Amino acid sequence: MTRKLSILGSTGSIGQNALKVVDNIQDDFQVINLTANSNHDLLIEQALKYRPLAVNIVDSESGQIVEDKLRKEDIEVLVGREGLLELAKRNDIDLVLNALMGTAGMEPTLLALELGVDVALSNKESLVMAGSLVKQIQEKSGAKIFPVDSEHSAIWQCLQGENKEDVQKIILTGSGGPFRTRDINTFAEITPQEALNHPNWEMGNKITIDSATMINKGLELIEAYWLFDIPIDHIDVVIHPQSIIHSMIEMKDGSVKAQLGVPDMKIPIQYALTYPRHIETDWERLDFIKLKEITFEMPDYERFPCMGLAFESLRQLGTTPAVLNVANEFAVYRFLKNEILFTDIPKIIKGACEKHEWMENPDLNDLQNLIIWAKDYVKSYN
Ligand code: MG
Repeated sequence: MTRKLSILGSTGSIGQNALKVVDNIQDDFQVINLTANSNHDLLIEQALKYRPLAVNIVDSESGQIVEDKLRKEDIEVLVGREGLLELAKRNDIDLVLNALMGTAGMEPTLLALELGVDVALSNKESLVMAGSLVKQIQEKSGAKIFPVDSEHSAIWQCLQGENKEDVQKIILTGSGGPFRTRDINTFAEITPQEALNHPNWEMGNKITIDSATMINKGLELIEAYWLFDIPIDHIDVVIHPQSIIHSMIEMKDGSVKAQLGVPDMKIPIQYALTYPRHIETDWERLDFIKLKEITFEMPDYERFPCMGLAFESLRQLGTTPAVLNVANEFAVYRFLKNEILFTDIPKIIKGACEKHEWMENPDLNDLQNLIIWAKDYVKSYN
């Protein structure tokens, strides 16, 4: 049976890989919607190839270009953030892949789940910011979330066939990023170019900086907490520089299950789309003989304070993880523009978490106000 798929953020790294997955399992999916932020050339190219019913481009200047090209092709073009939300409110699909970047991805996840549409979730911010809200909505609608992130996909795969009560802990692995061994006294001198140079994964700029500060691992911890419903003290982080073991679970009898593979996002994306099947591919295989070694280290919280701040935010819950996330996102943009130092990022996050007005159960409106507040807080940091 062909399933109807919407890809939000189709021109980003995950979106492009998702379309390669669609190429691999062509008969199983019909692409209904594609959306992009501003990459109009690639969106047009994708639209002409996959013939969706509708596309959205958020940037209004790019909107005109896309409309001119696709109008005669009988593909509906929606422009702006409103257009994105309008698409997210349509339930003419079976599955949404949410590969939007950052805070902007939260609301489309909530809208899809409300409609009872399952979400293959790559956007971390949805669960980090609105974890309890997502849970409430899922309870009502019954819609499911299929994790796309490599770590969460690994845990999900390891959990297949197991009883949840037999799981002792979840072990999230992380590469440690590009600054794992750099002299800690030189962190203030780190440039955006250096931080954008990730050893194993090719990703968008925002998430690459998040890997360099290692807040990425903290955000993934918060996501794991909501996805797998496990107490925070039962989630560990282990540094594994080769990014071959994507994460593990330890059972109560001491048995450990791990999921391994080459660092290729197409594999977890495809599993999220074809679950519970592992469909054949001709992609690169893991070669254990070439691999030589897989090593492990303790995470270094002194070197990467953002990771500790994320752990702390999960202990506080309520609005703290949301503020942490927004403050980080806008601090990263300021760092990429050379306005602040690499070492200012954790200072900004800490300040925002401490100064914001904490609430236990924020609704969407509260979260939207919080985004505005945190954005202003980051802007005013000098
Ligand atoms: Mg990850």
